[in-house]
Amino acid sequence: MRILLVFLLMLNCPALWGQKTTIFLITDAEGVGGVCRQDQTDPKDQEMRQLLTGEINAAVEGFLAGGADEVLVWDGHDGSQTLSTLTIHPKAKLLMGGLGPTMLMERRFSAVAYVGQHSKANIRAGVMAHSYSSLGIQNMLVNGKPVGEIDVIAAMAGHFGTPVIMLSGDQAAANELREIVPDAEMAVVKEGIGRYACISLSSTAARDLIREAARRSVSKIGKIKPYKATSPVTLQIEYTTRNSLPIDSESRTGAEVVDDRTIRFKGKDILEAWRLYRSR
Ligand SMILES: [Zn+2]
Repeated sequence: MRILLVFLLMLNCPALWGQKTTIFLITDAEGVGGVCRQDQTDPKDQEMRQLLTGEINAAVEGFLAGGADEVLVWDGHDGSQTLSTLTIHPKAKLLMGGLGPTMLMERRFSAVAYVGQHSKANIRAGVMAHSYSSLGIQNMLVNGKPVGEIDVIAAMAGHFGTPVIMLSGDQAAANELREIVPDAEMAVVKEGIGRYACISLSSTAARDLIREAARRSVSKIGKIKPYKATSPVTLQIEYTTRNSLPIDSESRTGAEVVDDRTIRFKGKDILEAWRLYRSR
């Protein structure tokens, strides 16, 4: 029995198999503690940069303390121009620039985590809630379910066999991930009471919470199952009025025009559907 137990533990421990434990950390601004107004999300806003970087570095400290070998941080907010290698944790690597349709998940990271994450569009208690673009996208649906970055990124990671282990952000974002990955570690740094109103922890308290959640989450690698979108995948994008569809939208590969503002793509899986949407 004991031997069996040791064997099962070994199966769950990538280090014993000579694999590095690499965490891919997705970052955004709207879910950072102390960020509650739209003007604060300007990538050049100095205070936001400090708040975000502080939360990221706390997460990196936690992952490393929990046994991770590497942390790759993606500057995911607004054009990837918020983070700097001058201030990022010395042991982390910074991924700068946009990601292609696979979101780099083909590298099959040990786990994915989010820092500064906001909830999907149309969530009342979500601070600056949106799905990819608050100006451009009204609603995004995968297989009929409204989704935002949390779902899409988790599904893309899951497509390549990678689980989501941790999130920091507002309460609404944590609720959203809990629906699909109940066992992920959550660090709730603020509670939304309106789109631009929140009750936030101090940055010190937020960082402490994030560091601990990140540390605990590493032990969940191998225990949390990768999240999968049910195949085949229908991806429907409802744009805002100011971003309604161009006249030639029917000619896009794999596209079905639903109405003036809504387009639908069908793929055999999330990757194919997302690729059709992203190809122009
Ligand atoms: Zn975002």
